[in-house]
Amino acid sequence: MADHGIGRVAVIGAGTMGHGIAQAAAMAGHDTVLCDVDAAQVERALARIEATMDKGVRLGKVAETARDGALARLAGTGGLREAVEGADLVIEAVPEVMALKKRVFAEVEAAAGTRTILATNTSSLSVTGIAAGLAAPGRFLGLHFFNPVHIMALVEIVRGDHTTIRTLNTALKFVAGLGKEPIVVTDSPGFASSRLGIVLGLEAIRMVEAGVASPEDIDKAMVLGYRHPMGPLRLTDLVGLDVRLEIARHLHESLDSEAFRPPALLERMVAGGRLGKKTGRGFYKWDDGP
Ligand code: NAD
Repeated sequence: MADHGIGRVAVIGAGTMGHGIAQAAAMAGHDTVLCDVDAAQVERALARIEATMDKGVRLGKVAETARDGALARLAGTGGLREAVEGADLVIEAVPEVMALKKRVFAEVEAAAGTRTILATNTSSLSVTGIAAGLAAPGRFLGLHFFNPVHIMALVEIVRGDHTTIRTLNTALKFVAGLGKEPIVVTDSPGFASSRLGIVLGLEAIRMVEAGVASPEDIDKAMVLGYRHPMGPLRLTDLVGLDVRLEIARHLHESLDSEAFRPPALLERMVAGGRLGKKTGRGFYKWDDGP
């Protein structure tokens, strides 16, 4: 067990994020249990992790011994109680539905030890809200990972209203142990990453709408002028215009700020099925789209 006290990790939900978080934890030396209500999903997630690690070995980025060690530390289960018992940290990555997350944590709290730290990977819900029904909300916080987890360095640590300093410090050390870079934010809509990322994306869309420049040139301004790895419109295409529209609506309402009002062009493009890369058309044409 590392000096921050996190030995065993349980990850609840074995989808896009859960499988990546489990992989990162196992690679960092933690015994890791991955759990999902859908047993087939657990199998798919374990196979996906193995394939990603094999690719890492082929590319010379992961040592064979590191892969073998991580796979040996990783287990899957369909039972939440079995996953949570004996875990020092539980990270939830089930769908973004408040009622579902609260239900999952009620079960987790009943099965977990009293010192176990509980974390949610929510990207937009209130961390304090998710913890509202818990007997001990001091040990609860947000650990917001980014997709794909094995590549993205950032973890946004979200302090709920009741999160204790001990919980925060343990989480900071755990994240550093994963080889990732933490930032600490208070529990506010959009945290830091979405709030800032979305406002740039929306302004870029308003500039296309006003005919200021082409999408290519607006993106180029940020890539070459500000060293962003990718322009805001290309990023919007990759994330999905529908996803960004939902976040914009949520932030517009919760922050009561005109900066987040969804541009009419975005509304029209989503209504017309131009959702970005996944539909083959967004601000760009994507060859590999359907
Ligand atoms: P996903 O749909 O890929 O995976 C969710 C998994 O949870 C599914 O396998 C589902 O079977 C499982 N599940 C549902 N109910 C469950 C339960 N009661 N117990 C155990 N497992 C259950 O979703 P995702 O994209 O991995 O997102 C998970 C969370 O991570 C969400 O809160 C999302 O907002 C957040 N997030 C997503 C991304 C992203 O890019 N996808 C990035 C950051 C954060």
